[in-house]
Amino acid sequence: MRGALIGLYLSSTLVAASGIPAPAQAQDSAKPDDNLNAVLWDQTAVEAKANATAMFALAKIRLDQALADPAWTAAPVEQTGDFKDHPPAIVLDVDDTLLNTSNYQAWNVKAGTRFTPETWTKYVKAQVDTVIPGAVEFTQYAASKGVKVFYVTNRTKEEEEPTVQLMTKLGFPDGGNVDTFLSAKEQPDWKSAKGTRRAVIAKDYRILLLVGDNLGDFTDAYKGTPEERDKVFADNASHWGHDWIVIANPTYGSFESAPYKSNYELSADEQRKLKIEALKSWDGQ
Ligand SMILES: [Mg+2]
Repeated sequence: MRGALIGLYLSSTLVAASGIPAPAQAQDSAKPDDNLNAVLWDQTAVEAKANATAMFALAKIRLDQALADPAWTAAPVEQTGDFKDHPPAIVLDVDDTLLNTSNYQAWNVKAGTRFTPETWTKYVKAQVDTVIPGAVEFTQYAASKGVKVFYVTNRTKEEEEPTVQLMTKLGFPDGGNVDTFLSAKEQPDWKSAKGTRRAVIAKDYRILLLVGDNLGDFTDAYKGTPEERDKVFADNASHWGHDWIVIANPTYGSFESAPYKSNYELSADEQRKLKIEALKSWDGQ
């Protein structure tokens, strides 16, 4: 997952190392947390469930269209050469695309803590993620049509086994004799950006759809300012809702770090100030 959250962790570590007192860690669950409403929506809103259900229903329609069109690819950068006769595949992110990780976010809100790699790995090993509505049915449908289902995730190699165990238990299709679970850093050039992993898949498969909750699940050009990200969005207008399907996730992601330019050396308060400055606001008149 989650460069932005790792950054928050690093920034608080740096503050502590500099001798400047870090903001007090709240033990009081009543302490305001900027993520409260987002996590509440993600975990309890029927609107969230309805939205995800709709997106996977759309994905099913698009999958059928893609199977019928040999020129269709969802990976315009990575899918090179003559791919028409390659077997079909879809590429899906895991966290908050297929698995709802809000139990971890909710734990942080209640505990007054933030993401750390240690607590995140412990959380993954507890195997308490729930399914995003529509995700199992969609991936099973794809597999039933002979489409290879690839999971491209920034969970780490250490987190792979408990994740695959849980996903299998929940009903997500496996790859048979093909390794379809591509975790971060499994290969030296498999960084957080996912283009190199899409390229490996695109060599042997025609990629029909990309499904994710973060701009980085679709393009490596996800780390810019809000304005730069808007341009990436506009430049890829033909993909959204066509061969790129987005599941809404307001709880974390590259949108959150964009206003402070992913500068994780800033304190949480400084990052928050820049996020507020990024808001377009009515002047009250
Ligand atoms: Mg994700």
